[in-house]
Amino acid sequence: MEANKNVSAEKASKDGEHLKTLVIGSGPAGLSAALYAARADLEPLVLSGQEFGGQVSITHIVENYPGFPEGIGGPELVQLFQKQAERFGARVVFDTAIKVDFSKKPYKVETYNGEYTADTIIIATGASPRNLQIPGEKKFTGKGVSYCGTCDGFFFKDKNIVVVGGGDSAMEEGSFLTRFANKVTVIHRRDELRASAIMEKRAFDNPKMEFIWDTVVESVNGNGVVESLHLKNVKNGEESDFETEGIFIFIGHVPNTDIFQGQLELSKEGYIEANKFMETSVPGVFAAGEVADPNFRQVISSSGMGASAAIQATRYLENQE
Ligand code: NAP
Repeated sequence: MEANKNVSAEKASKDGEHLKTLVIGSGPAGLSAALYAARADLEPLVLSGQEFGGQVSITHIVENYPGFPEGIGGPELVQLFQKQAERFGARVVFDTAIKVDFSKKPYKVETYNGEYTADTIIIATGASPRNLQIPGEKKFTGKGVSYCGTCDGFFFKDKNIVVVGGGDSAMEEGSFLTRFANKVTVIHRRDELRASAIMEKRAFDNPKMEFIWDTVVESVNGNGVVESLHLKNVKNGEESDFETEGIFIFIGHVPNTDIFQGQLELSKEGYIEANKFMETSVPGVFAAGEVADPNFRQVISSSGMGASAAIQATRYLENQE
């Protein structure tokens, strides 16, 4: 992604600038942590990561974040988060952590541009929706390809759309999307769902939901916006084109924790194990937002976790003194 104009591409010192608090990630969790840490005088530095603002920055409109009764654009919301954190002294730099060493204090974080050491670290690297990795998927993201029913469902009022996946997310989001769409066709690669019985029943009972089994989407096609999908039946090899105006992909999420493997305790799904104080397995290292939360995945819950992590980091530093 292009560097956000509001984020400086400040070069980190090769000798390693030392910080009281380093925040890794600039989504709602990271920027809320930065706001709270800045107000506690921890002078936090935020590493933006490749996508400033995280997942919400690719969300057209956020209608469920309190304080904005008319809704607010995702990019606009993260810019406000940034502005508010900066008002109290937080710095946000366009840089990405590529390696960490939490084996001894001060903790070390290597980035594309240099190296930092810090007394406390708040990890807010988020999660990314798993992609199908098929032609057209990336090109039409935001133009008919979506990974969030809550965010984008409204734009598919009275349209025929497709949901890919057979898990609880696909069923839950598919059911939610029938509030708007005329018809939701679920395309699943097997002939039975992975979703729980109750979710399955709800989906099967929904008159607006239809199912195409044993089928994978091979490409997304259109002219500016999504118009059709190329499908393949995995049992008989039959290929076809399926007309649709939208494709919602719910085939799981992947927490962005590659660089923390071997450094922190992770769940078997790869999420950072954090307790209710946002503490990880390493004292002074905290985790907030979707990197530690496979359950709620909302701007408000991630922001709350970010605030909690910063409060706890403040207490941790006070106890060290
Ligand atoms: P999931 O359970 O891992 O299901 C992912 C689905 O996507 C599976 O049906 C899988 O197919 C399919 N899939 C994966 N990769 C694919 C690919 N490359 N191409 C086509 N299809 C692919 O993920 P999830 O639905 O996001 O759920 C994650 C966890 O959250 C689960 O434990 C779930 O129970 C929970 N959850 C709970 C609720 C709720 O209780 N309200 C709501 C949402 C999620 P296969 O079945 O063939 O593997």
